[in-house]
Amino acid sequence: MVLPKLINVAGTEQDSITNGPGLRYVLFVQGCPHHCVGCHNPQTHRFGAGVNRTVEDIYREIRSNPLQTGVTFSGGEPFCQAGPLAELARMLKRDGYDIIVYTGFRFEYLADSPDPGIHDLLELADVIVDGKFVLERRDILLKFRGSDNQRILDVKRSLAEHAPVPVAEEDW
Ligand code: SF4
Repeated sequence: MVLPKLINVAGTEQDSITNGPGLRYVLFVQGCPHHCVGCHNPQTHRFGAGVNRTVEDIYREIRSNPLQTGVTFSGGEPFCQAGPLAELARMLKRDGYDIIVYTGFRFEYLADSPDPGIHDLLELADVIVDGKFVLERRDILLKFRGSDNQRILDVKRSLAEHAPVPVAEEDW
């Protein structure tokens, strides 16, 4: 018997306009190793303290709202649950959703990881917003990120060019 893949979830948000372009479903995962000072979601830090949900259950919830065209994985740290999130992302990509992943890790670290789940999730993401939140570099005027060290990266181009490639401003 194949056990269903579980994601430990801190919360969800429907019809978000603050976690990427368009109308998006946001999945906040539970557990984060980064502990950035000034983190806006400190309740998501403790691993295992969320609600376990199956990939299929979350997928059905996303599909039940026909207005949303994109899905954002945030946290917490999505790449700490990369395997099941990659499975969910694969299902969503087949249906035409674009995928954004917020991560405290840097692209260079993720691209070099030998972990197959991390590799899969990175390949399935259209965009990542990478790097820790740095309180001293906080800028409330920034769109879709908290501090100016964080980068909004085009993942396909970054992987192809083996270097971080920012998303064009006009696309966001
Ligand atoms: S990576 Fe994100 S969730 Fe984790 S501590 Fe930093 S700001 Fe908070």
